Amino acid sequence: MGLFTDHQPMFVEVETTTYCNRRCTYCPNSVFDRGLRANEVRMPEELFHKIVQDLGRNHFCHQFSPHNYGEPLADERMPHLLEMARREMPLARIALYTNGDFLTPELFERIDSSVDAFVITQHGEKMPPGVKRILDASGGTHPKIRYKTAQSIKLNASNRAGLIPMRVKRRKACGVVMNELHINAHGQLILCCEDFLARKVFGNMRDMTIEEAWSSEERMRVHRANVRGDFALDQCVTCGHGRIT
Ligand code: SF4
Ligand code: SF4
Repeated sequence: MGLFTDHQPMFVEVETTTYCNRRCTYCPNSVFDRGLRANEVRMPEELFHKIVQDLGRNHFCHQFSPHNYGEPLADERMPHLLEMARREMPLARIALYTNGDFLTPELFERIDSSVDAFVITQHGEKMPPGVKRILDASGGTHPKIRYKTAQSIKLNASNRAGLIPMRVKRRKACGVVMNELHINAHGQLILCCEDFLARKVFGNMRDMTIEEAWSSEERMRVHRANVRGDFALDQCVTCGHGRIT
C-alpha cells in the first residue's frame, strides 16, 4: 500500500474559477481584484480531469469540493465537471460550497446525483430565490442542503491569513490544514484554504501527481512546523484561522 492509500487527505479543494459575483466584506474578494470577471482564471478541464482521475485511482474516499474563492456555480462547466468528479471518484463525498445565487431548481436537479452535500451560504439580505424555490418544494428543508447565513460566517470569521483587517485571537499552533490539499484555478498547490494570494506554492498540479502533492516534503515540513507553533511564513504568523474575538 502506498502513502496515499494508507493515509488520505481528509479534504481536497480544487478551484475551477477565480470569479465570484459578490464582494463580501469578510472575504479577500472585497479587498483584491482577483475575483473580478475581467481577471477570471479558469482551470482547464483537462487539468481538473487529471486531478480527479489521480484521486479516483487512489480510491479517494473523503471530501472533495470544487471551490476556493471563486463561486463554483458561476462556472457554467460545473454540471459537467461534477459529473466527471463523480465518475472518477465514486467513493468521495462531494460537497458543493456555494453562495446559491446561481442555483435554480433545474440546475439542482441536474447536479443532484453528482453531489452529496450542498453547503449554501446566504451572503445577501435575502435567501436567493432559486434556493427558496428548492427548499419550499421540499417542505422547508432538504436532506442534502445545509443552509447558513453570513451571520454564522461572521461569528467564525477568519482574517484570511492577515488579508482582512479584523481583530483576531489566534491559535498557538496550526494543524487544521495539514490533512488537506488546496489547489487554485492556476493549478497551484497552495499552503491552505487561507492562501488567497498563493503566497506559498508547493508546486503545480500540471507537473505533479496527487501522490506527489500529498507527500511533498516541503508541504509536510511547513505544516509540521505549524503544528508545533513554529511559524516561519508571514501569513501563518498573522493568521487568525478559525478564531476571532
Ligand atoms: S460569496 Fe463567498 S467567495 Fe464570494 S465574495 Fe462572498 S465570501 Fe467571498
Ligand atoms: S496558520 Fe498558516 S497554514 Fe494554518 S491556516 Fe493560517 S495561513 Fe494556513
